[in-house]
Amino acid sequence: MKITKTCRECGVPLGISRTMRWNSDGTITQVSDPAHRMIFFESDNLDRMWRRLSRELAVTQEHIWELVISSKSRATRAFLRHTLPWYVNTAAHLVGYRTLMSTIEAQGLVMGYGKITLGGQYPRRGRPERVTVFIEDPYSLPLFCGDFKGSAEVLERRRSSLTYQALDERRHQIDVTVSKERLEEEYFHVRDGAARKRGEISYVTCPSCGAPRELAQFSWDLGRGIIRDNESGRRLAFFGTAGMREVFDELVHELGERVTPTIIDAERENTVEAMGVEEARSGLERLRFLAAIRGLGLLTSLSMAPERMEAVMANPAIPEYLVGLALGVFELATGQKGRCDWRLEGDGDLRMEIVPAR
Ligand SMILES: [Zn+2]
Repeated sequence: MKITKTCRECGVPLGISRTMRWNSDGTITQVSDPAHRMIFFESDNLDRMWRRLSRELAVTQEHIWELVISSKSRATRAFLRHTLPWYVNTAAHLVGYRTLMSTIEAQGLVMGYGKITLGGQYPRRGRPERVTVFIEDPYSLPLFCGDFKGSAEVLERRRSSLTYQALDERRHQIDVTVSKERLEEEYFHVRDGAARKRGEISYVTCPSCGAPRELAQFSWDLGRGIIRDNESGRRLAFFGTAGMREVFDELVHELGERVTPTIIDAERENTVEAMGVEEARSGLERLRFLAAIRGLGLLTSLSMAPERMEAVMANPAIPEYLVGLALGVFELATGQKGRCDWRLEGDGDLRMEIVPAR
């Protein structure tokens, strides 16, 4: 299967429709690994969010990026080891970077990560000490750096470090240096996916490729690796939720609890900018669908009044995002800023109560 081939009927690449499943419980999972959840989410805001964290927490952008890169590389390593055990066993050096990179490049194009090309390796034969890649229009430069570092570490089974530099507005060069230090065999485990609640969301699917019909509202530029929402014009990408969780947890661990409200507020701001008032007021059914098509979870109840909004989400993907989204919805629908009390229940549900901020 050529994953960058698109469906003639709906325009969705086969690399999406054949490898991912939109489930009735509000999640998106990989066909090959149903425990691996994905969200299909606006990505423009990410680099803005790192900048905001750096400003509001008074730490350098380099430090934020360092944390993002190291946590993302850890998650990528775990993911690759889990899904591609053959890379780390027999074939690693027969496969080599060219093959790995062409897989990563095609994957990047359909997932909305940008255009990735292999620059070269040194020495040219044998075990590489240094590998260079270029990326154009990255969905998020530090997340991509983390991905690439993790991939190299799995392939070489050694720790690596990297440097990145902007070549121009769109292009970046990333150099990974592989160290001599071997990675421990069981250095990191993928956390088991939490048990999920069942749901009854149903999608009208494309008769030709089986992807949800609603995906026709997004367009894939497979030359550049950019996915856009045709209505809002905003860019989206597919993110593994375990990777995002790892990044946010690492930021909280290193920089403290102040990280969480900053992420929530950045997401609130994004929602207010991107969503329409009509959409925010569209009610349970529509909002449930909007959340599910992005793999965010299953909205099970919603009540909205000017002085109070309550919502419960089963199988919540990234609670910080969902709380930010809910605050944005409240603000758009009622015309006033909100304050959210939220908690994760014992059964995994996310319960949110929003009242006007005073
Ligand atoms: Zn189709």
